[in-house]
Amino acid sequence: MKKKHTGFNTRMVHAGSPEDQWGSAVVPIYQTSTFSFENARHGADLFAGREKGYIYTRIGNPTIQALEDNIASLENGYGGIATASGMGAVSTVYLSLLGKDSHMISTASVYGPSRSIMEKYFSRYGVAASYVHTSDLENIKKNIRPETVLLYLETPSNPTMELTDIASAAALAHEHGITVVVDNTFSSPWLQNPLDLGADVVLHSVTKFINGHADVVGGIIVPKTKELYDRIRPVMVGFGYNMDPHQAFLVHRGVKTLSLRIDKAQKSAMEIARWLEKHPKVEWVKYPGLPSHPQYELARKQMKGSGTMISFELKGGYKAGEELMNHMQIALLAVSLGGVETLIQHPASMTHSGLPAEERLEAGITDGLVRYSVGIENVEDLLEDLEQALDRV
Ligand SMILES: *Cc1c(COP(=O)(O)O)cnc(C)c1O
Repeated sequence: MKKKHTGFNTRMVHAGSPEDQWGSAVVPIYQTSTFSFENARHGADLFAGREKGYIYTRIGNPTIQALEDNIASLENGYGGIATASGMGAVSTVYLSLLGKDSHMISTASVYGPSRSIMEKYFSRYGVAASYVHTSDLENIKKNIRPETVLLYLETPSNPTMELTDIASAAALAHEHGITVVVDNTFSSPWLQNPLDLGADVVLHSVTKFINGHADVVGGIIVPKTKELYDRIRPVMVGFGYNMDPHQAFLVHRGVKTLSLRIDKAQKSAMEIARWLEKHPKVEWVKYPGLPSHPQYELARKQMKGSGTMISFELKGGYKAGEELMNHMQIALLAVSLGGVETLIQHPASMTHSGLPAEERLEAGITDGLVRYSVGIENVEDLLEDLEQALDRV
């Protein structure tokens, strides 16, 4: 793309587009592990960074770079660092920004493994973490220690749909020299741009909305500055968290319809959330687009839409959660989210079953909680599917 400053949809389609000698419309898959040098001097120049080019796919590859440039553009960041999975992105960020005796403050109900790798493994290397409801800034303030270096936010959080005010949290963190990272997987760059709100680093599991077709696992990190990019990228390269060229090709294909998929699904999500709120077997519904959401106003201010993720609590608790799962006919009973197909899961028995019951409840993951990811099917079909399954609970 020759023109630099364009709208979101134009960048979604064209950012990171190829400039090869054949005029390819899409980026070819450079399925190669290594790149040959023209001569010894060329090799030396590439290694020294005096010349632009590729050396070895773990370090960089044109197909992967195209995706990195695309997402960096959508998030208004310095550059992209693609990883083999979303957890590869989370680990890379932890490894880059935390060290012995350092402390992190994190949203309590983050993606399960983002918390469990910290508590199981990083704790062994002297890293401490506090898990708090970051929706209340006081909880962040109270937990800041001299050794706190990282504020790790997920908003909306998974699966409780709790929002954190990114701009206020970032301002508070920056007063204390704390770096702010936002896992933006639940919103995608179409609905929320954390870097514009003051965050320093944004990351995604591209497995979800960005790829959107449930056929790839992947991740990406987008730092706001060159300084952070230069701190994080070598960790991805060194630990071998790199994405594969074929993965990058598929994700790049997926991202080109990001806003279209989300706009269609979130229109249905709004209708479904309203319908669920009136259902007698449903205790409550958490959806940022409902005025009943405790942070409805913040959602209007911080997000460009309400998203496609709905959480709701069944009056019948754990048993009802299991029963609902067993009777769905269109929604796939599966973890993951943000794809064209509607998915449903029961966090207490599935994604968050690894947490001790006490921690799980503390994080707001109750026994009858259901997480529903709305896809692009006909909304009437999705409503009918929910109705027949709820009838049998
Ligand atoms: C899925 C997910 C991850 C992890 O991503 P993978 O691609 O499964 O490794 C991290 N954060 C959030 C919010 C997620 O939904």
